[in-house]
Amino acid sequence: MQEKIRKGYPWVFHYQILNETGKGEAGDLGVIYNAKNKFLAVGLYDPFSEVRLRILQTGVSRNVDASFFAERLQKALSRRASLEGEGTTGYRMIHGENDGFPGLVLDRYEDTAVLKLYSAAWLPYLERIIPLFQKTLPVQRCVLRLSRNTRAPVEENSSFREGQVLYGPPLTAPVRFRENGLLFEADVLKGQKTGFFLDQRDNRKHIRTLSKDKTVLNVFSYTGGFSVYAFAGGCRTVLEIDSSSQALETSRAILDLNFPGKLSGKMHFRQLKGDAFQLLKELESQREAFDLVILDPPAFAIKKKQKMKALAAYRRLAEAGARLTLNGGLLFSASCSAHVPPDEFFQEVFSGVDAAEKGYEETLRTGHAIDHPVSFKEGEYLKGIYLRISGKRGKGKA
Ligand code: SAH
Repeated sequence: MQEKIRKGYPWVFHYQILNETGKGEAGDLGVIYNAKNKFLAVGLYDPFSEVRLRILQTGVSRNVDASFFAERLQKALSRRASLEGEGTTGYRMIHGENDGFPGLVLDRYEDTAVLKLYSAAWLPYLERIIPLFQKTLPVQRCVLRLSRNTRAPVEENSSFREGQVLYGPPLTAPVRFRENGLLFEADVLKGQKTGFFLDQRDNRKHIRTLSKDKTVLNVFSYTGGFSVYAFAGGCRTVLEIDSSSQALETSRAILDLNFPGKLSGKMHFRQLKGDAFQLLKELESQREAFDLVILDPPAFAIKKKQKMKALAAYRRLAEAGARLTLNGGLLFSASCSAHVPPDEFFQEVFSGVDAAEKGYEETLRTGHAIDHPVSFKEGEYLKGIYLRISGKRGKGKA
């Protein structure tokens, strides 16, 4: 455990603490000493979370004051400095533990920042951090979002509220932003995560380069991020599948925003609402097939004990996707489950394609973009793989 923390592992769970001397308040600093009674780390204490302590600082002891946070914020912002030049004003500014702010995420959508807390331990620091954000961030406004488990302890112990505008003008509509020059909108008050899946930006960009003249199936399309890039790359058609009618509606609106007046005419665009596993079977029975199939599902394993079930779901999905990919076409499969390690995920995708009795050649593996850095092994949650599919079973025969 000591060694793990020394190397950057940022969590101490409640069952790992042998001797908790007295009950602390959320946000109290907890100091960890090693077996020789020397300073090992200091962390934020959270009595409401299974993660009792989130490590802030290891090795040398430091005062956790305003300059402590200011330095970390500067470092995080400079890491992302290249993005705006690429026509991107929607990106993650602080990626939690990986940027030295454990349990805190800060995303930018053009003029709006969204501060999302995954731990009530940040409560006593907000008064220091909000003015720092106001002074430093390239935005006009900051909105507060609270994770499912954090909302009750924060709202019961402070006047902060889920969806509150912390500073700046009130918010009345989804916010518009750019990603690689394309236009998007995010509902930062109600949308999943902070309103958009910013972490897939590099994969979306890659899909644009693969789309020319292709027929595309975008499964779990949410607000249509991959579809916009596919059309921008010159694809022939897109079929979206999602279980949320609101997500599908938003996707249509965002496509209209990028390609005004083209949706009904030149641009061939269809949507299916329902369960993806079911709909993929139906498409197969109707003998549909596509040049490019995108599988970007929600996290199938939110808890560790769901891992085996998640692996089986990734395999079934890859099988269904491979069946719908034309020979010579591409299958892109992604996973955002933190409890599913990359190699195990890739193995399930290969097994799924095998089960579909198709051959494959791997063309690319992808991971984290620069605004979602990884500072410890378990923080590597996002993985993707591109396979060229062939008619014959067997690896490398495409
Ligand atoms: N690919 C998206 C992000 C996917 S988020 C992007 O690039 O932005 C996961 C999406 O899957 C959500 O929109 C959710 O509504 C949808 N979803 C969840 N379970 C589903 C199911 N069983 N069938 C179809 N869609 C599902």
